[in-house]
Amino acid sequence: AIPLVVAISTERAAKAGILVTDRLALERMRTVDVVLFDKTGTLTEGRPAVTHVLAALGTEDDVLARAAAAEADSEHPLAAAIVRSAQERGLDLPASRDFTSTSGVGVEAEVDGVRVAVGGPALLEAHGAAPLDGTHEWAGATVLHVLADGVVIGALALADAVRPQAREAVDALHARGIEVAMITGDAEPVAKAVAAELGIDRVLAGVKPQDKGAEVGRLQAGGRTVAMVGDGVNDAPALAQADVGLAIGAGTDVAIASAGVVLASDDPRSVLSVVDLSRASYRKMK
Ligand code: ADP
Ligand code: MG
Repeated sequence: AIPLVVAISTERAAKAGILVTDRLALERMRTVDVVLFDKTGTLTEGRPAVTHVLAALGTEDDVLARAAAAEADSEHPLAAAIVRSAQERGLDLPASRDFTSTSGVGVEAEVDGVRVAVGGPALLEAHGAAPLDGTHEWAGATVLHVLADGVVIGALALADAVRPQAREAVDALHARGIEVAMITGDAEPVAKAVAAELGIDRVLAGVKPQDKGAEVGRLQAGGRTVAMVGDGVNDAPALAQADVGLAIGAGTDVAIASAGVVLASDDPRSVLSVVDLSRASYRKMK
């Protein structure tokens, strides 16, 4: 039977927009000593925008139009930002075909008979190419390079605003004696900039979606009790691996299925309600 105090607390939780799908997860939350946040869409708005375009070959409009054509079939927020930016500049997008995407790397498609690839550091590495000089000044931005038949033709900078409540959430977790960490597929300089802005203790950057669960496991192997907070399909294995998986902002179906706790709000401070509820509910039990 469910102890009365637990039944009452899950009902209280529901009223606060916290759906507990795994009662033991709520109980474990009081012993969590590190909260690991996904960056994109969790600590940031998840709605990036193109801030800079750099052309190494051809014009900036060329680089942006080709990148947007290659990204047209991608569902990634970075792709949406690139397509939107091309439309805002009134560019005609050439047709594309043979689209492929590699999670944590980038996309590729044939655009006007040319293989166009768009992606981050892992894509450059795969092509044995170096970042363009001008991109070094884009500190804190997500940098993507655009390649045509394997040759770098330009680069894009994309910025994603930090959620206004994120700093307060980090401070309040610290006040409760909990370490705050961040995990992302994005590159280290971007991750470090966000972490510095928010006062986050530990950064795991450049982590491929399929490796996020293993990173959680590594923390656990070091004796930590880990809560993972994420929103995307990307995070499902990490949510499932964590001692407590929290899907934020109603998440995706996959994230919800992998989480013990679902937060209706996308406010990162809602994690605090779960900590406090767990501590208040289970303190007197044993
Ligand atoms: P996050 O962990 O922040 O959710 P992802 O794992 O989705 O990030 O992506 C990590 C990195 O992979 C991005 O920062 C980018 O470099 C590259 N990437 C992923 N999807 C795309 C795409 N559609 N176009 C270009 N680059 C991409
Ligand atoms: Mg994500």
